[in-house]
Amino acid sequence: MLEKSGATPAATPPTAAKTSSEYPKLLHMNGTDITTQTPPVDARFFPRDEHFMRLALREAARALDHGDIPVGAVVVHGGEVIAAGHNERELRGDPTAHAEMVALREAARVLDGWRVLDSVLYVTLEPCAMCAGAIVLARVPRVVIGTADPKAGAAGSVLNVLAEPRLNHRPAVDSGLLADECANLLRAFFASRR
Ligand SMILES: [Zn+2]
Repeated sequence: MLEKSGATPAATPPTAAKTSSEYPKLLHMNGTDITTQTPPVDARFFPRDEHFMRLALREAARALDHGDIPVGAVVVHGGEVIAAGHNERELRGDPTAHAEMVALREAARVLDGWRVLDSVLYVTLEPCAMCAGAIVLARVPRVVIGTADPKAGAAGSVLNVLAEPRLNHRPAVDSGLLADECANLLRAFFASRR
């Protein structure tokens, strides 16, 4: 399930290869020069974030193979992808088989313990309450989110489990990376079911 391309995280994604300006590639998300917009929506993101979110998107697309809602997640540790998961709720008949849960379980196995430290979790859709809870429990230091989930998101949309001051861990959260692409995948899925 691991992406081999995670071994070369500095590689420029093919879709960004055509941008020829001196600006970092993240200033050209979706082929649009957002340097003309204010404020710069990507100020929170590191150059590698887009690469890893694209891997999460690729993971999300795999959920379509078994009729699951396309949500994907990867866990990056020490600059390498150590775990990846996509939504397998229908495939497994398991209400907990969300992308983040699948990826966190794998990451914990790779790291040989429940603490997923020194890691970043990339997920295409804002985590639900269960997954946000698992992220807190796993002590994940940073979460990068694609598109928001206004109906169930627990990173600020419905609840904000990830920023709850009464819990003993609060990850850094950066939202909105490749949001349109993450949302379009979901839209296409739901449109195809109508
Ligand atoms: Zn979830």
